[in-house]
This record gives sequence, C-alpha cells and structure tokens, in this order.
Amino acid sequence: MKKYDVIIVGAGVSGLIAANYLAKNNKKILVIEKEKQIGNKLCAGGLTYKAVAFLKNAPFISKIDLKKIITSKSNTYSIKYRQKEVVSGKSDYPYYFTHRSILDNILLKKAIENNIEIIFDNKVLEIKNNRIIKTPKGSFRAERIICARGVSEFFKNNIKNGDFYFTMQTEFSLKEFDKNTPTNFIYGYVSRGYGWIFPTGKKVVVGIGSRDVYEVKKAFYKMCKDLKLNILNKTIKGAWIPCFEKKEIIKGKIIYVGDSLAATSPIFGEGIYNAFLSGKIAAEIILKNKENNKYKKEIKKHILNKNKFEMLIIYIFYKLLKIFKHKLLYFFMTKLGREIFLIAHGKISYLKLFLSGRFFLRLLR
Ligand SMILES: Cc1cc2nc3c(=O)[nH]c(=O)nc-3n(C[C@H](O)[C@H](O)[C@H](O)COP(=O)(O)OP(=O)(O)OC[C@H]3O[C@@H](n4cnc5c(N)ncnc54)[C@H](O)[C@@H]3O)c2cc1C
Repeated sequence: MKKYDVIIVGAGVSGLIAANYLAKNNKKILVIEKEKQIGNKLCAGGLTYKAVAFLKNAPFISKIDLKKIITSKSNTYSIKYRQKEVVSGKSDYPYYFTHRSILDNILLKKAIENNIEIIFDNKVLEIKNNRIIKTPKGSFRAERIICARGVSEFFKNNIKNGDFYFTMQTEFSLKEFDKNTPTNFIYGYVSRGYGWIFPTGKKVVVGIGSRDVYEVKKAFYKMCKDLKLNILNKTIKGAWIPCFEKKEIIKGKIIYVGDSLAATSPIFGEGIYNAFLSGKIAAEIILKNKENNKYKKEIKKHILNKNKFEMLIIYIFYKLLKIFKHKLLYFFMTKLGREIFLIAHGKISYLKLFLSGRFFLRLLR
C-alpha cells in the first residue's frame, strides 16, 4: 500500500490551499478527487477584499496568477427588496469575482509544480482506522488526512431543513445585461436567505439561496420573472451550502476544512475565504505537529465563533424582515450599510464595531 505524509480528500479550494502549503514544505502529498476534472463547482465566484488579500500573501501565488484569477471587480452595489431598489451606491472596497474553473485550476497547477500527486476520477469510499483511504483505484495510507470533500461530507447523514442553504443559480452572458450592472443583493423572495446578481466578468450569475429548502425553486422563478430575466433556455443548477454548527472539527488523524467543516459565513454565504483559511490552518497544524486541540482552538477563534454570532444575527434579522420588509432593509443599510460591507471585506470585526461604540453611534444618527 502506498504511503503519504498527508492525503487530501477533494480538490476544491480548501484542499488545494492545504496541498500548496504542505507541498511547499516538502511533505509527500496525495490529493484524491472524485471528478475527472476540477473547477465545475457551482459558485457565484464572489471574492471579498480579505479573500484577495489571502491570495496576494500566499507564497505560491504570483501577481500574474492573481490577475488571471480575478475576472472582474465591482465597486457599485444595489440592495433590493423584491424588484424595488432600497439602497445603492459605491462601496469603499470592491467585490472581486472569479470563475472557479480558473481559480481551482491555478491552485492545482501550483500544487503540482510543488510535486503533489493527484488522482482524478476516484471517489473516496471509506476512511479506515483514521489512516487508510479506500477508493475504487486502491487503498492508500497516510499519517494525516485532510477531509476537504465539501458539502458531500454530509450527504450520507440526514439533512435537516434549516441546516443548509439550498441554492439555485444560472448564468447570462454580459451582452444580455447592462455592462454597468452592480453587485446586487435581493431580499424578500425567500424567508431565510437572499438572491444575487453578480457581474463576474464575461458572465453575470443570478441565483438565490434559502435555509428553507422548500421555498427556493418557486422563489427563483418569481425573482427572475419580476426582474425580467429570461431564463427559458438557461441551464439552472442547484447546490447546498452547509450552515450549522458542526461538532466534529478534527477526529483522530482526520482534519476537516472548508465546507466539510460547515465553515461558510451564515450572513454572506461566503465560503471561499473560510475554505482558504481553514486549509492553511490545517496545513500549519500538521507542519508544526500541533495537537488536535490547537486546531479546534484556531478554527473556533478565526471562523466558528464568528459564524455562531452571525447565526444569531440572521435569526433576528430574517424575523424582523418578515415584519418590516423593505423598511427594515432601508433602515439597516442607511445606518449600517458601510459597516456591513467593511465587515464582509474583513476590514473591521464585529467586536471592534461594538466596542468602538460605532454601532450605537450609527444607529442613533
Ligand atoms: C450557488 C453557490 C454560490 C456560491 N457563491 C459563493 C461566492 O460568491 N463566494 C464565496 O466565497 N463562496 C460562495 N459559495 C460557497 C463556496 O463555493 C464554498 O464554500 C467553497 O467552494 C468550499 O470549498 P471546499 O474546498 O470546502 O469544497 P468544494 O469546493 O466543494 O470542493 C470539494 C471537492 O471534493 C470533491 N469530493 C467530494 N466528495 C469526494 C470524495 N468522496 N472523494 C474524492 N473527492 C470528493 C468534490 O468533487 C470537490 O472537487 C457558493 C456556493 C454555492 C452553492
């Protein structure tokens, strides 16, 4: 049986970031990916300032790679309640966009340059005794395993309505849109989520997600109809985003990262940055040979505690939105819009917002 220092299950963004950090430090790495090729993950491709800063500082990404990864950037935004625009404007920091086919393949190319091995078209069926990976193409052994298989981590378990965002998304060519289309966030079609129109470069992606699985399909068609988006001949895809507090962060020799950790931000639905961050933290824990508790601590500090707080905010926010509708959005965005964007981009933290008194000052303004 072939032996490796680390086996990574899944060649998505979290797995590939971990692979790059580990391979740069001369670890013997095997990545196992169930698909024949990568980059087909359903995603809107939105990158916040902090996600781009992460890539900028990653030792394996050059300026040229970054230019290729970022397919567009948008400084303007529009917040809608159904068809009605509630607020719009220019944000301090732009939203950047990428296409996953580009981002994932650049990360993979860099990891291969650093001598990782990868096997495509090979689904991990079982992880035995914390160390042995069983696949149709054979069994492999590793000192540590990084579980980066995204949301499919959860499919064998029961999916409880409310624990996942169910999303639907389609794509338009830029020609079908005004070329100055802002980054749109659309509320009011689903009770526990939002819709989006993202200008990602050559494409404009339109989607919606809700933690109430049953309302998404109807809401998606209604939103497109109201916004006069003709989706008659479009391919519409659906996918899940985990959004609950996962108890298993690390188990014996197995470390969970990205969506396998349910690390996506409950408010913004942003998963790429936390996938990057958890992949990097996992690699550092392995490289420094730190005990499991250290990983738990780091992940809680940098990701999960914030997500827990966001879960509480969205619980209250969507309850109030049901009652006050566009008026609540207007109130929030005119008072706190700037701060919400700054938080999304990682320029201020919730803690700083409260401790500095800025939150209360803005509300009283
Ligand atoms: C519609 C939609 C829009 C989104 N938009 C955004 C956005 O704009 N910005 C943002 O930041 N985030 C967004 N997200 C979230 C983001 O896509 C995820 O959080 C991110 O992809 C998680 O990365 P990951 O590496 O954990 O998992 P993934 O990217 O899902 O990668 C997992 C990989 O594991 C492979 N795999 C699965 N099972 C196995 C197995 N048994 N054996 C081997 N391989 C396996 C899969 O094929 C896949 O390649 C969106 C998600 C959805 C669904």
